[in-house]
Amino acid sequence: MTENATPNAAQDDLAPIHESVRALCANFPGEYWRALDRTRAYPEEFVTALTKAGFLAALIPEEYGGSGLSMTAAAAIMEEIQACGCNGAACHAQMYTMGTLLRHGSAEQKKRYLPAIASGELRLQAFGVTEPTSGTDTLSLRTTAVRDGDHFVVNGQKIWTSRAEHSDLLLLLARTTPREQTKSRTGGLTVFLVDMRAAKGNGLTIRPIRTMMNHATTEVFIENLRVPADAVVGREGDGFRYILSGMNAERILIAAECIGDAKWFIGKATAYAGERVVFGRPIGQNQGVQFPIARAYIGMRAAELMVREAAALYEAGKDCGAEANMAKHLGAEASWAAADTCVQTHGGFGFAEEFDIERKFRETRLYTVAPISTNLVLSYIAEHVLGLPRSY
Ligand SMILES: Cc1cc2nc3c(=O)[nH]c(=O)nc-3n(C[C@H](O)[C@H](O)[C@H](O)COP(=O)(O)OP(=O)(O)OC[C@H]3O[C@@H](n4cnc5c(N)ncnc54)[C@H](O)[C@@H]3O)c2cc1C
Repeated sequence: MTENATPNAAQDDLAPIHESVRALCANFPGEYWRALDRTRAYPEEFVTALTKAGFLAALIPEEYGGSGLSMTAAAAIMEEIQACGCNGAACHAQMYTMGTLLRHGSAEQKKRYLPAIASGELRLQAFGVTEPTSGTDTLSLRTTAVRDGDHFVVNGQKIWTSRAEHSDLLLLLARTTPREQTKSRTGGLTVFLVDMRAAKGNGLTIRPIRTMMNHATTEVFIENLRVPADAVVGREGDGFRYILSGMNAERILIAAECIGDAKWFIGKATAYAGERVVFGRPIGQNQGVQFPIARAYIGMRAAELMVREAAALYEAGKDCGAEANMAKHLGAEASWAAADTCVQTHGGFGFAEEFDIERKFRETRLYTVAPISTNLVLSYIAEHVLGLPRSY
């Protein structure tokens, strides 16, 4: 088994997980999300409930206080949250960001942080990779960390750092060796686990970005921030590789969220098509209304199979880069197609806040852009699976 391997779960074992997530989500109906959406507020109570129930510690091994579940089980949790009309994006990072620490952190770091992350006492919700000038081109990032005795001095700026205001820790990627001095193309970047409780006001400033969905995303400004050398995760200079290895888990879990969203949209569209009567018959009797819903369902099921395959490979500790990317791509396309069909099926009511469709429509649109955009997934498949020349 490689560094990715997690326990394995059969699909049949998942029913109790779906049921318990559904029971929790029943306490957070549409009105709850609508009220938050109006003020773009963070779903504090929802995140606390998920944390207390232990769902966000699914992937943390039992020896560190987590539930030691499989990737398939973790995906089932995220899928069900979305299928219930809730939004796991407020806290999904608590589930997978710790993977970098688990796989590459020292024994001391794991002992110090993982039990507290598992209990929710420490929130590791923030992941600082993207920068304003480099965008998808991570290797061009400009945030630097320069060694100064037993500390590093960090300077730079991150953008789209989600949930930074709702996190105690930040997993930060910074350049520790100038690009022209590195031996390999991907070397010279280092991962730091920054304690933001100490850093805020001492070199770290967080500024929220208002976005079209309440994603609690921010800009993070870093100026002469002193980070202790023991905050380095793994080996100095190997950070890009560590971040990449964590991205498969992120892609699989977000793909599962897309499946949940697609199920929610398809369920809503089907119910409405069956009950809305126009021209003396249910609109769902018209093939022009039926077919897009059926097509969305087929797309969702195909994407679901790819999510399962990616999760199974991940659990077996095998390379799942292609499958994780394809799962995320198919999931994002499926949820977006289902969202569009759901709006169309509802006619004017698709735009009314009280139906929750327009909110979920905005939320699910994100996934063809982040955490990785469609073009970059296609480039990955073209290059790494089909062997075509690298395009960038
Ligand atoms: C709500 C939200 C939350 C986010 N949360 C986080 C977070 O917590 N942490 C974090 O680090 N980042 C986060 N991100 C950033 C996210 O990962 C990036 O927005 C995403 O990877 C795209 O990068 P970019 O926005 O810089 O787009 P750019 O890199 O500027 O790209 C813009 C467009 O050009 C296309 N493009 C660029 N280069 C090529 C090429 N060579 N070939 C073909 N097409 C290309 C892209 O596909 C994209 O469609 C978040 C973003 C959003 C919107």
